[in-house]
This record gives sequence, structure tokens and C-alpha cells, in this order.
Amino acid sequence: MADCIFCDIVSGDVPSDIVYENEYIVAFRDINPQAPVHVLVIPRRHVDNINALTAEDADMVGRLYLAARDVARQEGLAERGYRTVMNCNHEAGQTVFHLHLHVLGGRRLRWPPG
Ligand code: AMP
Repeated sequence: MADCIFCDIVSGDVPSDIVYENEYIVAFRDINPQAPVHVLVIPRRHVDNINALTAEDADMVGRLYLAARDVARQEGLAERGYRTVMNCNHEAGQTVFHLHLHVLGGRRLRWPPG
């Protein structure tokens, strides 16, 4: 999609620190990390956010979580714990309108989030 920074990361037009990728998914380090490990897991195919998902996206959403599991293992978070977050629209703090799953860990995370 034009003017989407994450589509530009998927295409390689914008550099990123990619930690995991497969046919459907790319995962890269957040440029403004909120924890010692902060990785964004995104589908290669553009979808704005959760509101734009359809039944055809069910496999893709599952693949996002499988990739998050693999990233967490890879980053040494699986046993100690980590959080996945997907913000939807402005009041939740969504700033990039290409579906993405935050994987956060490496410190004790507070609850509830702010
Ligand atoms: P959200 O606020 O849920 O939409 O999350 C968007 C995230 O993307 C934020 O945590 C940003 O720090 C991150 N971000 C924005 N641009 C880039 C980029 N070029 N490379 C890596 N992370 C980015």
C-alpha cells in the first residue's frame, strides 16, 4: 500500500532490524523500544488494523501469533514471560495503520497498561 511505512519495510525500501521472516510474516525491532525486547510482528500483506480483518484473514492472524511465539523463544523470553499487544485505532494508541503485534519482554511488565 502506498504511504505505509511497514509496507516499505516489507519491500525493503525502508531499512529495519529484521529478526524473523517467512512467506507471510516479517518481524523487526521497534525503533522506539518500550522494553529490552520490543519486536513488531506484521503480515506482509497490508491490513489497516483489527477492524479491517475478514474471515479470510484467520490463517494470517494465527500465523502472527505463531511468529510471536517463535520470536519470544528466539529472544529468550518464552520461559520468563512476555506480552503481545495489538492496538486498534487512536484511543488505543495505534500510530501505524498496518496490522502489527507488539512482542514486549525482558523486564517485569505492569498491569493494567496505561
Ligand atoms: P502502534 O503505536 O501500536 O501503532 O505501534 C507502532 C510502532 O511502530 C511504534 O512502537 C513505533 O515505535 C514503531 N515504528 C514506527 N516506525 C518504525 C520503523 N521505521 N521501524 C521500526 N519501528 C517503527
